[in-house]
Amino acid sequence: MDFEFSYKTRSEDIEKIRNSDCDVLVIGGGITGAGVANILASNGVSVVLVEKGDFASGTSSGSSKLIHGGLRYLAQGEIMEVRGLLKERDYLTANTDIVKPMDFHILVDQYSWKKGTLKFGLFLYNLLSGKFSIPKFTGNKGLYPESVEGFFQYQDSYTDDSLLVISNIVTSKMHGGICLNYVEAEDFEETDEGIIVTLEDKISRDKFTIEPSVIINAAGPWAGVLSEKLGLDLEQGLKLSKGVHLVLPASKVPVKNAIAFRSHIDKRQMFVIPRGEVVHIGTTDTFTDSPDDFGVTEDDIDYVLKSVSQLFPSVNREDVITSYSGIRPLFGEGKDPGSVTRDFELRQKGQVLSILGGKITNYRTASRDAASMVASMLRKHLRVKGLPVLEYTRPDLGIPERIEYEIQHECPLFPEDILRRREAARIYSLDMGKSMEPVVKEKALETGMVKR
Ligand SMILES: Cc1cc2nc3c(=O)[nH]c(=O)nc-3n(C[C@H](O)[C@H](O)[C@H](O)COP(=O)(O)OP(=O)(O)OC[C@H]3O[C@@H](n4cnc5c(N)ncnc54)[C@H](O)[C@@H]3O)c2cc1C
Repeated sequence: MDFEFSYKTRSEDIEKIRNSDCDVLVIGGGITGAGVANILASNGVSVVLVEKGDFASGTSSGSSKLIHGGLRYLAQGEIMEVRGLLKERDYLTANTDIVKPMDFHILVDQYSWKKGTLKFGLFLYNLLSGKFSIPKFTGNKGLYPESVEGFFQYQDSYTDDSLLVISNIVTSKMHGGICLNYVEAEDFEETDEGIIVTLEDKISRDKFTIEPSVIINAAGPWAGVLSEKLGLDLEQGLKLSKGVHLVLPASKVPVKNAIAFRSHIDKRQMFVIPRGEVVHIGTTDTFTDSPDDFGVTEDDIDYVLKSVSQLFPSVNREDVITSYSGIRPLFGEGKDPGSVTRDFELRQKGQVLSILGGKITNYRTASRDAASMVASMLRKHLRVKGLPVLEYTRPDLGIPERIEYEIQHECPLFPEDILRRREAARIYSLDMGKSMEPVVKEKALETGMVKR
């Protein structure tokens, strides 16, 4: 591939947009911002995306990484939402390399939904994705503790959430979009001509301005903070909920398929998800007041461990390799986080469009709806049907060559950007990426990404 997207092009791009104007400024480089920046650039719109940290450093690297319809949402009566999510799941699974099918066992025990309810729910779940099949119950057969009566098997999909974001960002760049990590939208000044936005390069601490025709607030859990700065009122407001996952060695939780079960503590739906050498177990779902409340507490760890010990009694605190968390940006009513819709909503006021709520699974729908609104705001015709498409795929290379490729095509600025999000070795490998550190450091120095 002969294009470059690196720390070098980042500096050139900053010079290009310094104190200039553009059609659309997207604030937030998570899945929501990345998807819409991909569509807009593919249409030749002059789009600038800014992300205050690394791309995907917010919620979009802290998810369960499932591309799914959400069986649980059926119980809440969100049938149309589930149908839309399943359509997206099936599209992404069939058309991309980074979304793959995964088998699940949903367990039947004293804490689960009743066997008949589960059977009907799964039947409906399959039907909503266009498949007519009667779910088959299988007895425990010694796979799980005696308290488990058995399970139904079904299929959903999984992905690498940060790579999905980065692939959209790189596709946007390939079409002429400008995507800048470590650049924060700091200040907004309303003038007669429109809003002047002050951006800060978090690396050089240099500040400059941009005058966009349209601003997209795709700041995920920070959308409320941004709305306040923009003088917007989100009425019922954004609700934030923290979700924590634990990472354990696959040898301690030896499963071939993912498991969906309900915690004996509060009957919340949880997952055990195999990811190669490790398994991810989660998640918690607790309201928080701050989008920066990423900390994983001992209570969070305790809850997940106690919940999973009903299936794997020998698992204990020493088995936890690491943990990760994310803050769900939820937009809707609900007394507890689990009851708030996972659907997205668009709000437009003046030249600002906010994308609120949503899931990774339906990012394409949210991006298309947002791009259609941008089209009417800019009074331009934009093609949205069938978009966004991922035109960037990382070639299959050995570790050193792959890391060099990432440095030249995926714009990491620090070794940690590679270890956490390009490779995600911090949460996918038994040694949390330690064995990869020397080669990442070497390549970072060799390519000039990091100075000696
Ligand atoms: C524990 C957990 C599990 C989940 N599991 C799933 C799942 O399995 N499947 C699924 O489909 N969904 C799942 N979700 C939901 C999904 O992860 C989120 O809905 C999605 O990632 C939100 O993306 P976003 O782009 O809106 O937000 P983010 O990814 O948080 O992106 C917003 C970005 O905006 C940036 N930003 C904020 N303010 C500024 C500023 N002033 N200037 C520049 N940049 C700024 C932030 O740094 C951030 O990176 C899960 C969520 C959680 C928390």
